[in-house]
Amino acid sequence: MRFDVVTIFPAMFGHVFEHGVVGRGIERGIVQLRPHDLRDFTHDRHRQVDDMPFGGGPGMVIKPEPVFEAVESIRPHNPGPVVLMEPWGERLDQKLAAELAAEPGLIIVCGRYEGIDDRVRTGLASREISIGDYVLSGGEIPAMVLIDAVARLLPGIVGDPDSLAHDSFTEMAAGWPQFTRPADYRGLVVPDVLLSGDHARIKQWRRRQAAERSSVHTKELKKS
Ligand code: SAH
Repeated sequence: MRFDVVTIFPAMFGHVFEHGVVGRGIERGIVQLRPHDLRDFTHDRHRQVDDMPFGGGPGMVIKPEPVFEAVESIRPHNPGPVVLMEPWGERLDQKLAAELAAEPGLIIVCGRYEGIDDRVRTGLASREISIGDYVLSGGEIPAMVLIDAVARLLPGIVGDPDSLAHDSFTEMAAGWPQFTRPADYRGLVVPDVLLSGDHARIKQWRRRQAAERSSVHTKELKKS
């Protein structure tokens, strides 16, 4: 799957995806990540990507022309939907990540300043995605969150596909508690059942624990 990212800070995408399972996916060619510098699609000497808002008000707005030109130059290489990262967009969750993982690619546009000229949304984008109800200074971190959530679902990325099936928000809202050695750490002991070797009991215990954690998650959702 190919991810093209349009940003004024392409270098931000360097280190983040050199590590972990997504990094390995890139090495193996399962994931292709291509950051594009929005400034490369300007035509003036100052490589200006922003301008003052029509109607007045504070801050600057990302101009439409470089974004349209960037996406048009990427399009022949990536048939996937154009996604705008926007705080008011559709909320990213595991279901949406799975839906996007079925696409051949994504073209992700990162905003900055007061946001992106709205004609990019109406004339270019297929969807707007938010990573949560808070405002960050730019779309780069949200784009990284989206890429990570989608890429780890691709076949061959996570070593054992069974681990995806038991993730939080897949079967249930929460995964079960995990323990590793030592069995007793400063008097904090691992539940006996996990040391019992009784796989049926372990399975039952894990399901019960996951259900309990899921109900905590559901209560938190209801409160908000
Ligand atoms: N004034 C705008 C916020 C602009 S923040 C507003 O109130 O909607 C600048 C950019 O950061 C946005 O264009 C978007 O690309 C990105 N961004 C900020 N918070 C985000 C979030 N929660 N999810 C996705 N993108 C976000």
